[in-house]
Amino acid sequence: MIDQIKKLEKIARQLEPTPAQRTQWTAAVTRYGDHFIDQLPEEKTYYEVDHTGEGIEEIPIPETGRPVEELIDLFRDNVERVGLNPAGGGHFGYIPGGGIFPSALGDYLAAVSNRYAGLFFGSPGAVRMERFLIRWLCQLFHYPADATGNLTSGGSIANLIGITTARDAAGLKARDFHRAVIYLTQQTHHCVQKALRLAGLGEATVRYIPTDDRFRMNTPFLEQQIRKDQKTGLLPLIIVGSAGSTDTGIIDPLDAMADIAEKYGIWFHVDAAYGGFFLLVDEMRPAFKGIERSDSVAVDPHKSLFLPYGSGAVLVKNTRAAYEAHHYNAAYLQDTDFFGPQLSPADVSPELTKHFRGLRMWLPLQLLGVAPFRAALAEKALLCRYFHQKVQELGFVVGPEPMLSVTIFRYVPAEGDANAFNEKLVASIRKDGRVFLSTTTIDSVYWIRLAVLSFRSHLREVELVLALLRQQLLKQDLL
Ligand SMILES: *Cc1c(COP(=O)(O)O)cnc(C)c1O
Repeated sequence: MIDQIKKLEKIARQLEPTPAQRTQWTAAVTRYGDHFIDQLPEEKTYYEVDHTGEGIEEIPIPETGRPVEELIDLFRDNVERVGLNPAGGGHFGYIPGGGIFPSALGDYLAAVSNRYAGLFFGSPGAVRMERFLIRWLCQLFHYPADATGNLTSGGSIANLIGITTARDAAGLKARDFHRAVIYLTQQTHHCVQKALRLAGLGEATVRYIPTDDRFRMNTPFLEQQIRKDQKTGLLPLIIVGSAGSTDTGIIDPLDAMADIAEKYGIWFHVDAAYGGFFLLVDEMRPAFKGIERSDSVAVDPHKSLFLPYGSGAVLVKNTRAAYEAHHYNAAYLQDTDFFGPQLSPADVSPELTKHFRGLRMWLPLQLLGVAPFRAALAEKALLCRYFHQKVQELGFVVGPEPMLSVTIFRYVPAEGDANAFNEKLVASIRKDGRVFLSTTTIDSVYWIRLAVLSFRSHLREVELVLALLRQQLLKQDLL
């Protein structure tokens, strides 16, 4: 038996590479990473190639390992150079994410230390770091210091936590679910509907409240609808505000919505997944007025705090309600259950064991300070307004003046189908690949969107979009 154990140990110890092996692997990976970052200004943002990375599936998992160089090549050819490159400053589609370098170092520390950030008992320091970040977010959103929160994988789970808490805080039972009503608008992100269904509220009524000419919720209509619903025996449950809608970047009239939520005793949830961190910019704070009166708020550090994908956050004012909706105990965790100062991330989230996400947020904030984040956000907002002006000079029609860093625009040719014209325009820009734009349809009208949120998007990249649009119009003798 001892012989067998020792034989296995010899192979098993390969899981702990030698210092020389570590150095070689680390050097290969960081060499690749440095080259990738240094080359980005020259690289495409969209790779339209004749394959979809099938190579990844053609190299099976071996019984004994392969050299790191081979794997990096495989990654480069099948992942890096296929489809959208969201790390590039030319990414203006959807809502661009971040990927600031110090976060990669935070992830490295989290992975090598493998600290367990789910429960206070096991790793009080890690949990304190995440709680410290939640408190920092509470200050940003003007939430009270005793509010709770969680660092999630993204906005979808953050919104889900807000919704499950709202459901249980109202004391709703399954037999009431079909009478519950949720108020939102066509601008609300679809992950809210997804979260409602996941929370068992698929049978609830979703009321799409009409919007004004800037796509913001019409609050007199909201109030009328709530009264009607109360009269007919329905249970108004949640009002959902957007603070930064994905489609058009608008902020709902949060203060007026908070008034209504308060008056009728309805949970007020704000989805600030895209826009939340613009609160760092003093001049932009007034547009968010009322957000501090919400019951819960979702925000994505992997969007407007420029972190890499996999970082969302939720804040919930009523800590007890978030705890009651999510905590569970198990016999084998009997030493770890606390409500109070030692509340654990696992008590307010569907997750137990989770990535120690705090480090990828804490390290860059501490290393760089807040100033560059604040400046980058103010810069992106200005770039968007600059584009909004300049694109009109080219003859494009635009949506409302941007509230944050998203704008919509389209060209209306003198003859022919305008929607088809704009579709073709976007297709040629994607083919060029230097920048990436996405589109949307609002009331059957096809719009092109410009979302300025990559931390690598500066004046140079916005000028490039304008130049490419100009080139397309010139090609068609429209200028
Ligand atoms: C991106 C986004 C979401 C979804 O968040 P994920 O991080 O993709 O899960 C929700 N709401 C808004 C407004 C968003 O922009």
